[in-house]
Amino acid sequence: MSDPIFPYKLDNDYYGDVASFCDEFLEYSNGFNFKNDEETLEALCIGVYWYLYGTTALDLNSNIHQVLANLAEYRRAFPEDKPFIDSLRGKLLTKYLFKPYEKNEEKLTHENLNLLVNFLEATGDYMDQVPHFRNFTHNLDDCITITKWFCKNSANYLGRYTCDLNNYLENNHTNHWMEEDVIFYHGHELEYHLNMLGAEIMNRMFKAEYDERPRKAIVLPGCMNAKNKKCKAKQDRLGLVCTFCNPKCSAYKITRQYPDHEVYIVSHESTAFKGANKSDVEELGIIGITCVLNLISGGWKSSNLNIPPQCVLLENVACKSHWLSEDIYGEIDDDELKLKI
Ligand code: SF4
Repeated sequence: MSDPIFPYKLDNDYYGDVASFCDEFLEYSNGFNFKNDEETLEALCIGVYWYLYGTTALDLNSNIHQVLANLAEYRRAFPEDKPFIDSLRGKLLTKYLFKPYEKNEEKLTHENLNLLVNFLEATGDYMDQVPHFRNFTHNLDDCITITKWFCKNSANYLGRYTCDLNNYLENNHTNHWMEEDVIFYHGHELEYHLNMLGAEIMNRMFKAEYDERPRKAIVLPGCMNAKNKKCKAKQDRLGLVCTFCNPKCSAYKITRQYPDHEVYIVSHESTAFKGANKSDVEELGIIGITCVLNLISGGWKSSNLNIPPQCVLLENVACKSHWLSEDIYGEIDDDELKLKI
């Protein structure tokens, strides 16, 4: 395979850059009297999604919203029906929700926020974020103001990590049409930057709670074993556990490196923590490893279950289910994982 173009790519400077951006953003947001950093992040998410998807959200027919939201719920509850549901959702999403970006001139009111949340729910990509927006009570004008600041500044810190995104999307612009990940795949650069900043904010928010947990689990995405069909990992309650069949495998290396930690491979975020029981919820802190566009959803998924998360980003996307023509081994910054643990 020739060298692939990635929608994003990290290097050694990334964690320093995102920390500086986060410091500056939180200092700026201090002037808006948000309750805490979580509400600040909710406000920024709302503002960015309103900016990117507001026009489509205002146009979304309520019956289409309902059908798509029900299908997304059904898919979560019955993963065995995924092929059938995904095919139907892909067609509906491409026809009704996948629209080119159009400038949004409407004011963000509480009524419009409800329509935006309906849109997010219909995509199925924001299920763990939606409850945070349904209960949002802070002044909506502040969401817009901090979003304008974010849009003006994010590229200064994070733009070089997504500099190939437009090229990548132009080269693949019909990819994933009629598929359930069509909106996810064609995400705007601002969503990449939002997830990068969001992950840094969450890492700070949940650090103390995470440190107090007696059990630590590292949760790896399926690409870390390159979706290897010959993988001999064994199914455990919380995910697949490596049995060390292939020293080249990234999951092998991490599992060997941290013998005192639980390490699980989870093939899809919708199945993560499905088997968690009461003691897991009380004892576990997790380090989730994932690609950029899953960071905020993954963090809130874990914290909604009362399992404090920390996250480490994949250096670049690695799987062919969404991004590449072939699976490659997902890699991370080892030093960052060591620091988080
Ligand atoms: S080394 Fe572990 S995770 Fe990798 S393919 Fe083998 S069993 Fe699966």
